[in-house]
Amino acid sequence: MRWARSSEPCEDFHLSSERKIVIHLIPLDHRSGEIIEDLGSSLEALFEVPILQHEPTTLPASGYDPEREQYSSSQMLVNLTAFKNTLTNLERVLGIVSVDLYTDDLDFVFGEEDTHERVGVISIIRLQQEFYNLPPDKTLFQQRILKEAAHGLGHIYNLGHCSNSACVMYFSSQIGEIDQKGNIFCKECHPGRNTV
Ligand SMILES: [Zn+2]
Ligand SMILES: [Zn+2]
Repeated sequence: MRWARSSEPCEDFHLSSERKIVIHLIPLDHRSGEIIEDLGSSLEALFEVPILQHEPTTLPASGYDPEREQYSSSQMLVNLTAFKNTLTNLERVLGIVSVDLYTDDLDFVFGEEDTHERVGVISIIRLQQEFYNLPPDKTLFQQRILKEAAHGLGHIYNLGHCSNSACVMYFSSQIGEIDQKGNIFCKECHPGRNTV
């Protein structure tokens, strides 16, 4: 896994790298940047493709709804697509935020993807025990982040939901369901290997 400063031009990185970056992980605020630590390495092992974990950026004000006190995940995808359009067609982009996300028809979302544009975003705020007034559990928190990041990226690799609860593509809309599912891809769900 490589780290890049957000100011580092990706073109230069590609030219100097023998291993072409396939997935970009972008913390969209400083708190998420501090928390995701080794996420890039864990995902790299899971997807078996080179991943570039960016330095945290500043959360754009666009998409914030002051009445809901949440950010629109769809607007985040628009911003991420603008970045994605500076890359090659083979790359995928996953943004990570520590703020709460919503879509127009749901009270909240753990994340959202645009599979056509190959971008996604996940929020970590509802993955921490403190959100449910429970004592912090860093290990559990990191496991949930890994599962949600892998699940979102799986969708960006055009994987649908999987009926196997041991598979990370198992559908989960509640925190308990995230904990119940596994953190690996089952045999039928193969991202990143022979997929363009
Ligand atoms: Zn899903
Ligand atoms: Zn599966």
